[in-house]
Amino acid sequence: MSSIQQNIEHITSQIADVQQKCGRARDSVQLLAVSKTKPNDAILEAAQAGQRAFGENYVQEGVDKVQFFAEHHPDLELEWHFIGPIQSNKTRLVAEHFDWVHTIDRDKTAQRLNDQRPSDLPDLQVLIQVNISGEASKSGVEPEQIFALAELISSLPNLTLRGLMSIPANVDDHAAQLATFQRLAELQTQLQKRYPNIDTLSMGMSGDMEAAIEAGSTMVRIGTAIFGARDYSSKA
Ligand SMILES: *Cc1c(COP(=O)(O)O)cnc(C)c1O
Repeated sequence: MSSIQQNIEHITSQIADVQQKCGRARDSVQLLAVSKTKPNDAILEAAQAGQRAFGENYVQEGVDKVQFFAEHHPDLELEWHFIGPIQSNKTRLVAEHFDWVHTIDRDKTAQRLNDQRPSDLPDLQVLIQVNISGEASKSGVEPEQIFALAELISSLPNLTLRGLMSIPANVDDHAAQLATFQRLAELQTQLQKRYPNIDTLSMGMSGDMEAAIEAGSTMVRIGTAIFGARDYSSKA
């Protein structure tokens, strides 16, 4: 078995352990494999281990991978999630090639993705990115802006609102991680009162997955723990 396949097995059993430890239903947390900077053969290995959902951060790199797998491995039926910052001039490529977008934090982005979604594709599944740690440099809407953006998204015919996403400040302390994720989970609960069909809380990465699951994450985004450390030297 390849190391990528072993890593996926390991993460999958870790997810199952944490779910059980905190009394959550089996299979209530989906694994999103974050494959940014990683080559197609690494993705193929993960797919051969049964992984279906992949996350990409860079538009052109992501589109190249989507097209490669559509052409060469259509039988795998991979699902592609865009999880990086979206510039306005790149929304068309995202709307045309991805299944999900986790990083909507402006009306304009939502509107453009809706207008550019091809009519022969299913709705784009979207999450609102929330700046939960209140860092000035982070993307994401402030918690008090969530409802206004949700209202716009739910009025757009080609987008389906599925929930919230956040990338909290990077801290090692489990209690601090948990408190932050619980704030996001509380916002999701409030949003669910108005939009009962939303079902996705995208939170937790390689370094804080356990706290995220404890707090109610339904989708963890894991890169390093599956594919190893990333090399950004070609991205500068
Ligand atoms: C890179 C990235 C991840 C994965 O991070 P790891 O620490 O490698 O697991 C998850 N979410 C987002 C938004 C990312 O950009």
